[in-house]
Amino acid sequence: MLYAGPMDALSGVSRSWQAALLLLALAAVSLAACASADPEESASASRARHAEADATSPAPDPGSAQGKDGGAAPPTEVPAEATEPAGDAEPEGQAEERDGDGGALDGAVIAIDPGHNGGNAAHPEIVNAPVDAGGFTKACNTVGAATNDGYSEARVNFEVSLALRDLLVAEGATVHLSREDDDGVGPCIDERGRFAGELGADVLLSVHADGAAPQAHGFHVIRPGLVEGYTEGIVEESAILAAAVRDALRAGGLTPATYAGEEGLVERSDLGTLNNATVPAVLVELGNLRHDGDAARLTDPAGQAEVAAHLRAGLAAFLAEVR
Ligand SMILES: [Zn+2]
Repeated sequence: MLYAGPMDALSGVSRSWQAALLLLALAAVSLAACASADPEESASASRARHAEADATSPAPDPGSAQGKDGGAAPPTEVPAEATEPAGDAEPEGQAEERDGDGGALDGAVIAIDPGHNGGNAAHPEIVNAPVDAGGFTKACNTVGAATNDGYSEARVNFEVSLALRDLLVAEGATVHLSREDDDGVGPCIDERGRFAGELGADVLLSVHADGAAPQAHGFHVIRPGLVEGYTEGIVEESAILAAAVRDALRAGGLTPATYAGEEGLVERSDLGTLNNATVPAVLVELGNLRHDGDAARLTDPAGQAEVAAHLRAGLAAFLAEVR
């Protein structure tokens, strides 16, 4: 049947190719249309839509949310080490040897947002300015919590983030931080959410520690709730990310919060950092700085290194699952 009537067969093939090319062209146009309607479209289009939503939205009750988001300076990048293995191609089957972890960070782009900033308290005129937090406004940033001895949350967040960055870079990831020091101001929470997507990150981890009642203790991982016009594109994978980070912290021996959420997980729709994110994002409260045990762990370099290692494991598990 293949060779019946040579000329007819040739012209048939030619018509088939023309039809195939036409279909391909139609598919390309269709894909382009889908992309422009996607919630995770270009950052500028997203910003424009957010601005519209903000103009007609009432200010929310800040409630306990005010202290949760951090602020800082322009995003900075730490490239993956120059000693990356040559050639991206992996041998067949290697992915199956990852065991849900090892190798998943190689080539990943990870945004870390160390909450707040050490200079925020000295610049209320900057940190109190309202910004779009997801269809409503909140302060650009806040000072954050502190231990009873005055060790600032901003410093805890920054030191854990640096330790985490080192671990990730050592495994071939490219890491972007939302701030590069702990004596500056900001950035605002909206930028802390946006910068990850703008820099092409696969994931955003916002690092915080809480200031709750002295007996309360433990960590919780906050994932974004559904906020129309903002988080539609990220809620699903952010929930996977939240579970992965929660599992890793718990496996590392940390206690899920006794005062918030269930089993270390919380969903919130009032956090400007998460609402402005365009890639899978969670905000982790590593512990309660007003609790002696949590504060001791989070201000001790060895404790910070352990927490960072658990966060690394959570990110690796998430990336192994979704990439
Ligand atoms: Zn915080």
